[in-house]
Amino acid sequence: MNNLDLYHKDKENYLPTFNRFPLAFIKGKGSRLWDANGKEYIDLLAGIAVTSVGHCHPTVVSAIQKQAAELMHISNFFVSPQQVALSELLVKISGLDRVFLTNSGAESVEGAIKIARRYAHKNGQGGKIISMQNSFHGRTLATIATGQEKYQQGFAPIPTGFQQVPFNDIKAVKAAIDKDTAAVILEPIQGEGGIIPAEKAYLEELRKVCDLKGVLLIFDEIQCGIGRTGKWFAKDHFGVQPDIMTLAKGLGGGAAIGAVLCNEKVASAIEFGDHGTTFGGNPLAAASAIATIEVMSEEKLCARAVETGEWLREKLTELIEKHEELESIRGMGLMLGVKLSSPGAPLVKQLLEEGIVANVTAGNILRLVPALNISKGELNIFLEKLDAVLTESKALA
Ligand SMILES: *Cc1c(COP(=O)(O)O)cnc(C)c1O
Repeated sequence: MNNLDLYHKDKENYLPTFNRFPLAFIKGKGSRLWDANGKEYIDLLAGIAVTSVGHCHPTVVSAIQKQAAELMHISNFFVSPQQVALSELLVKISGLDRVFLTNSGAESVEGAIKIARRYAHKNGQGGKIISMQNSFHGRTLATIATGQEKYQQGFAPIPTGFQQVPFNDIKAVKAAIDKDTAAVILEPIQGEGGIIPAEKAYLEELRKVCDLKGVLLIFDEIQCGIGRTGKWFAKDHFGVQPDIMTLAKGLGGGAAIGAVLCNEKVASAIEFGDHGTTFGGNPLAAASAIATIEVMSEEKLCARAVETGEWLREKLTELIEKHEELESIRGMGLMLGVKLSSPGAPLVKQLLEEGIVANVTAGNILRLVPALNISKGELNIFLEKLDAVLTESKALA
């Protein structure tokens, strides 16, 4: 079946919640993708910041193959050597003390909220969770309560106990913290909201305020964590340690796995039976995550994200000077957003036609979150196509 056959067949049975492109991808390698018609693409989206070591990295593939043949799933009633090894790795790279493994980002955030409330209640505090306007923490009920209002429309009643304040506004968050507050949750770099980094002074001050008021600080590093910004975690750029941190996306190299990490202070409030999961961190997903972290270390992908990110930034800055359509660039490492002067959907479509997979978030931010080992040659192809597409649309205008 070709792209269009698959597109129409998909529409017959799948819940119509994704407005999909009429494209079906059937094969990937590194930063290349192939569709069902055999056309090749350069991938700057990486499954939305998921395949950070590239598609089908041989180390990850062989770890999954080996684990699938040995043991895929037990249950969390038993100890798994893969979970033991992954937890140890995550503790080591994060500086936090405890790990709970999940299947997705939203599930990690749900876990973080539960853990924070459990801790707060044990300390005689209320369960209010303060989050940021323009944030994104997932699409489950509690996570839409923390996020942008547009995702809440039509799903009342929305869980209560959540309050939103403007991002990067220390006065607003200070004013919102009261005796009912369990935690403040935020993305150190807002992803879906348009690649907007927190300010260092804001995070430092927020840490102080949280300590002073006995409120927990939760960082959602689902998109910006695991090397994406050039350090293991975005928090490491800011030198601010949260009490709880959520991970997913890049963690499994493409396998569905997430994590909630916390410090010992918070962990000490958790008792047997407080939380659970059937699939979370099963041997197959954990083996994939271990292999992914190993590849990241061995291929020094954090350093590479910095180097490639800086280079790409320079090249994009040249294009910004040349094309009015491109306004400015922001982000860190290989989590970059190029602000466009108008809605980006047509540009994304034109780029796809040229064999480039990129995406637009927050309406007019061209989001670039490629694999951390993407080559400059591949990026040059993207830059040439972007230049050509913008030149062409000018000629048509
Ligand atoms: C993608 C994302 C989520 C949700 O992850 P899912 O795996 O889609 O549930 C949560 N927080 C942030 C910051 C994200 O980027």
